[in-house]
Amino acid sequence: MNLVIFGPPGAGKGTQAKRIVAERGFMQLSTGDMLRAAIASKSDLGQRVEGILKRGELVSDEIVCALIEDQMDSHKEAAGFIFDGFPRTIAQAEELDELLVKHDQKVDAVIRLKVDEEALLERITQRFKEQGRKDDNPETFVVRLQAYNEQTAPLLPYYGEKGLLHEVNGMGSIEEVALGIAQVLDGI
Ligand code: AMP
Repeated sequence: MNLVIFGPPGAGKGTQAKRIVAERGFMQLSTGDMLRAAIASKSDLGQRVEGILKRGELVSDEIVCALIEDQMDSHKEAAGFIFDGFPRTIAQAEELDELLVKHDQKVDAVIRLKVDEEALLERITQRFKEQGRKDDNPETFVVRLQAYNEQTAPLLPYYGEKGLLHEVNGMGSIEEVALGIAQVLDGI
């Protein structure tokens, strides 16, 4: 089974994806984590994308799709993937569909974490204080939220029309949100 965990920046996608991995044995594929690792290792890719992440803009579809394809090819044994922070554009979603078809698979469910955008800014400010993620400062966050609304939110009708969208209230505690996701997954 392949899942997409979907929501604006700061919705808690990464936290919940890690729980699903621990509890259900999926493999998490986070393009954000891959890009941050590239930056930390000072690779060519890292140097190319560093400024983009700092500003809160989206990296090109080609770059993130290549990262995903690479990981899918090197983990053919995985029982299923949980895509976290990917896809973020319609072009990425189409590419993901094609990549999965090549592996005789498909997206089985999209879990949308519904959150209040006002509350997100508070969450992000907190996470910035705790983890010091460079792209979590409040100014960058506004750009990230704008990129979400303009380029990523159109994926909701894309997956909705395919009947894959499952909404979970993302405003509760980590435990409450995890419970909401578990109920969806158990029902699939
Ligand atoms: P995240 O940790 O998923 O919030 O991603 C952090 C940053 O990495 C984003 O603000 C983008 O600059 C970049 N990024 C991550 N995933 C993608 C993606 N699928 N498409 C484009 N840019 C991405």
